[in-house]
Amino acid sequence: MSAEPTKSQAAGQAPGPLAVAIVGAGPSGFYAAAALLKALPGVEIDIIEALPTPFGLIRGGVAPDHQSTKRVARAFARTARDPRVHFHGNVELDRDLSLAELRAAYDAVVLAVGMARDRDLEIAGAGLAGVFGAAAFVGWYNGHPDFRDLDPGLDTAAACVIGNGNVAIDVARVLVKTAEEMADSDLADHAARAIQAAPLRDVYLIGRRGPVQAKFTNKELTEMGALADCAAVVDPALLPAEVSGPMPERDRRLAEKNLATLKGFAEAAPSSAKAKRVHFLFNARPVAVLGPDALLGPDAALGEGRCAALRLEKTRLEDGRAVGTGAFFEIPCGLVVSAIGYRMAPIEGLALDSATGGIANRDGRVDPGLYVAGWAGRAPSGVIGTNKADGDRVAGLIQADFPQGSGPGGGASKPGRDALVGLLAERGVRRVDFADWERIDAAEVAAAPPGAPRRKLTRIADLLAVLDGDDDGAPVTGV
Ligand SMILES: Cc1cc2nc3c(=O)[nH]c(=O)nc-3n(C[C@H](O)[C@H](O)[C@H](O)COP(=O)(O)OP(=O)(O)OC[C@H]3O[C@@H](n4cnc5c(N)ncnc54)[C@H](O)[C@@H]3O)c2cc1C
Repeated sequence: MSAEPTKSQAAGQAPGPLAVAIVGAGPSGFYAAAALLKALPGVEIDIIEALPTPFGLIRGGVAPDHQSTKRVARAFARTARDPRVHFHGNVELDRDLSLAELRAAYDAVVLAVGMARDRDLEIAGAGLAGVFGAAAFVGWYNGHPDFRDLDPGLDTAAACVIGNGNVAIDVARVLVKTAEEMADSDLADHAARAIQAAPLRDVYLIGRRGPVQAKFTNKELTEMGALADCAAVVDPALLPAEVSGPMPERDRRLAEKNLATLKGFAEAAPSSAKAKRVHFLFNARPVAVLGPDALLGPDAALGEGRCAALRLEKTRLEDGRAVGTGAFFEIPCGLVVSAIGYRMAPIEGLALDSATGGIANRDGRVDPGLYVAGWAGRAPSGVIGTNKADGDRVAGLIQADFPQGSGPGGGASKPGRDALVGLLAERGVRRVDFADWERIDAAEVAAAPPGAPRRKLTRIADLLAVLDGDDDGAPVTGV
């Protein structure tokens, strides 16, 4: 990146605007941008995003049938259209430019890159075909280009989803909803076809601990009892009479609501008119994924090296921890999705914190001029709005570090956007700006089937083809 003096420096003028780069166009990046615009009205912000599409997990994580949750993206779009903000999509840190180059070009750099990788399922057989992490599986059904070709192979009657949070429940729900129930969603076409063609009948949601410790929000849990062709099933023996033990009041209220909902599922005889079942299994910890040679069951005919069953050990709670009882059982299944948490892809030159799995930082500060917001700095937890506090905090730190809204010590600011654009042009990187994204968005919306909000383009080539004018919303690289 150019170490040349900026135009204003060369001309001996007053320092230019404070130049801030935000890496990642998810909620935390946009919350940080909005807070910075308020705190430092003279700021110039460049949002650098690996994908040609903005909004991070709002597009690639939040369930396709929960469209109202995605509405917050409208506010983020308003921030992106502010003349002080430029979006540079299709530009990846560590692929197209380094952190050192960014820091040389910008007064302040905010890392808002999220946590895109799955925490490993550390049990025997986790490498068998048919075993996926939720980041990959959700990315696949949400049309994230990195997972477009995952091809999970849903030719199985049963699936196990490991985890007791909302991501696990999202995966289970998307697998069992009918085509009609998904008609107003933006489930990617390839996933809709595979899911509707699957012979899936039973989905098991598995928690190591009990129903009181489950992290489902009650709204998502309740929704499982109102599905068109799927019954929610739970063994009443797994449900305690009441919520007991010390816990924060907020957790107690959630646990009580969830327990009441689960009791409702247990009491309702599952309607035989419904073809599918979601089974809530508690106090069971996965110990191994078994291949067909280890189990001669209904799925034994599946391809070699493919998962055929999940082996579990019953647990009991001791001081809030799940402890194995030595009693084992198996669930025949051809698909296992583990929703047990996320980790970060390392960024060159940055240490990761072993406790959070994110970038090591002190309340958002990494190094002078380098900050972190959202999942990348905190932990992969909370709702979209939880990231707002991170954005506000980072804006506060930058305001404190650059009180004049210019370079350190009131000196000249760094070159910022000119240097970024020049470097990417030298490297032949094709940038997608926000107006480009709005064309892609319009093409997806125009191609939507009746009732659906959009028909997602799921390959980078197809997204970019819209900008070349040869796209009518139909994929150019095959379905
Ligand atoms: C499956 C799932 C479902 C969820 N459902 C809900 C829900 O219903 N309601 C709710 O409130 N919350 C939900 N959440 C949580 C919510 O999505 C997160 O809190 C939020 O998205 C985190 O924001 P973020 O900006 O930190 O990360 P992200 O949203 O992950 O954004 C990070 C961005 O950085 C980009 N990036 C990563 N690496 C680079 C790089 N090297 N260079 C350039 N760009 C990069 C990514 O492409 C991405 O766009 C869900 C999360 C998941 C995983």
